[in-house]
Amino acid sequence: MHKHETICRVCKTQTEFVGVRPLLQSEVSYFECPNCGFVQTEGPYWLEEAYEETINISDTGIVARNPTNRNIVISKLLMLVGLNQKVVDFDGGYGLLVRLLRDGGVDAWHSDPYCDNLVAVGFEDDGSHVFLVTVFEAFEHFVDPNTVLAKMFALAPNILLSTDLIPKPMPKFDDWWYYQSRTRTAHRFASKTYASIPG
Ligand SMILES: [Zn+2]
Repeated sequence: MHKHETICRVCKTQTEFVGVRPLLQSEVSYFECPNCGFVQTEGPYWLEEAYEETINISDTGIVARNPTNRNIVISKLLMLVGLNQKVVDFDGGYGLLVRLLRDGGVDAWHSDPYCDNLVAVGFEDDGSHVFLVTVFEAFEHFVDPNTVLAKMFALAPNILLSTDLIPKPMPKFDDWWYYQSRTRTAHRFASKTYASIPG
């Protein structure tokens, strides 16, 4: 009765159907992997609708979080190697973080296929090798995380990402704020979990 996607897109294990939830104009099936814990929807067919407005009106933290993210990136660079490094901000939105990093002395570049770079124009990533890829509140949107990780590691030996890890056991749909059914980006107003992945 549901559109079935039963193989985990991370570890290829058989997933378990956990329920159906409204998402935008659709009813979408959710699946949980018993092996790695990855929670995924059925194969997304609503992305065109979801990406019509990349930065959502409910994303009221769009400005406030970027200075925080800039400080996190700069602190990491200072700890690891120093500021004068090439960094690409994946899913960089309007380019706010890239602008702030450049103002702070970091050689930062913008990458986002779904959103125009408005405030760091001229610094669009050209695919060349960099020291660090940053991914703030975007990783959870990737349909196939393994493919995106491989793409990022082809660019850089280091990845700094933020997301929110799903609690165990998986919360009910109404019991966890990080599920979003109406928009792609509404949950971006907060960042809780930071993970560095060395190459
Ligand atoms: Zn899995």
